[in-house]
Amino acid sequence: MCGIFGIKPYAEAANLAYLGLYALQHRGQESAGIASLSGERISVYRRMGLVADVFQEETLRNLEGSAAIGHVRYSTSGDSQLENAQPILITCHHGQVSLAHNGNLVNAQKIRAQLESTGSIFNSSSDSEVILHLIARSQKEKIEEAIVEALSQVEGAFSCVFLTKKKMIAVRDPHGFRPLLLGQLGESKLFASESCAFDLIDAQMVRELDPGEMVVVNNLGVTRSSKPFEAKPTRHCIFEHIYFARPDGMMFNESTHEYRQRLGEKLAKESHIEADLVVPVPDSGVCAALGYSQASKIPFAFALIRNHYVGRTFIEPKQSIRHFGVKIKLNPVKRLIEGKRVILIDDSLVRGTTSRKIVKMMRTAGADEVHLRISAPPTKYPCYYGIDTPNRSELIASSHSVEEIRKYIEADSLAYISMDGMMDCLAASNKEDYCHACFSGDYAVPFPSLSV
Ligand code: AMP
Repeated sequence: MCGIFGIKPYAEAANLAYLGLYALQHRGQESAGIASLSGERISVYRRMGLVADVFQEETLRNLEGSAAIGHVRYSTSGDSQLENAQPILITCHHGQVSLAHNGNLVNAQKIRAQLESTGSIFNSSSDSEVILHLIARSQKEKIEEAIVEALSQVEGAFSCVFLTKKKMIAVRDPHGFRPLLLGQLGESKLFASESCAFDLIDAQMVRELDPGEMVVVNNLGVTRSSKPFEAKPTRHCIFEHIYFARPDGMMFNESTHEYRQRLGEKLAKESHIEADLVVPVPDSGVCAALGYSQASKIPFAFALIRNHYVGRTFIEPKQSIRHFGVKIKLNPVKRLIEGKRVILIDDSLVRGTTSRKIVKMMRTAGADEVHLRISAPPTKYPCYYGIDTPNRSELIASSHSVEEIRKYIEADSLAYISMDGMMDCLAASNKEDYCHACFSGDYAVPFPSLSV
């Protein structure tokens, strides 16, 4: 779970990278960074925190240059520390190379151990640094050849944007787990994880990179595309569509909003129940709740209000008032809920702790009945390709039946969409092209210790 962005050539590249990252903020709130090329030198600025807090006017002025790549991080591999923030910048015999990476490598630890045993020194615990070590060791003459050699040795998910003195290079892993788009603004070429980054800066989305594709942008903005890796089955992450991506864009060539709405419609058909109101858990349940309401003809109501300013820095006062829990984030509209049979819609149930609190909150607000509907199947298996799902032991559906979970969250009824229902809602003609390991346990790339 990270967002990446790149632009070249453009007179104020870092400014646009800043805006692009701002649009991609939902993909990672832990750290943000931009590497920019000014004249012959790449410099990088990375800090912990949100994009708008990390970059000040002066910081951006200092990053002036004709090309830039950027990154927002949500740690899925490696600790939450500044040294793990990206873009990473190294100097090696290929010159300066900067990298922004989204995805998780499943064999990074193994490669790292091998490299360390022959003297490599690592600066971070991030799996992405392994890629740069492999590039630095490559004897290939051209940087793109070195990148291909390096990435051919790693397994798992990678959508990457590299910046060197002369080139910007984007690469997507052969399974195409994580998204990566090519955009255009005048003569400039852009790369971004999601199309909302292009929308904000009035750039056009050209297309999605193919799985296993590499696109090299030169100083004139001319692109060269190749498919240098051994072809593998496509495995787009279905959880991007279900939860992670913003609904206002296209992902894997279909509209995320429309997909989520279809999930809601399907859910209404699969697990209909008599009720008075359909209420989304904001923001993740909104599109599916719209679909559920339309298909079931049960009125939709924004009866849970979200505080949008809750950040990771929130400090709970120690003594006077304690245990706010989910109340910090959500508050019910009592007048809408009192005496009503409510269907709550959320996109996923992971540990079950949030749902339990929300169900209780609805009852306290006067709901007569609370029914929970989830627009994804039970999350039973951890993700090793970049989505932050906890270990199996913390995934409530890995060890509890639906009825046991219903009892735990104290809902009157609980239903998930079926696997077939989730797949049917995809407009894509080839539904085999999706990774749904978090629901099915069907892992496209084996992880060294699947017992975690
Ligand atoms: P819980 O069941 O308490 O673990 O949390 C479920 C809630 O977390 C749902 O509202 C989801 O939208 C949201 N959620 C699902 N996956 C993730 C994730 N990887 N990171 C953060 N929130 C998530």
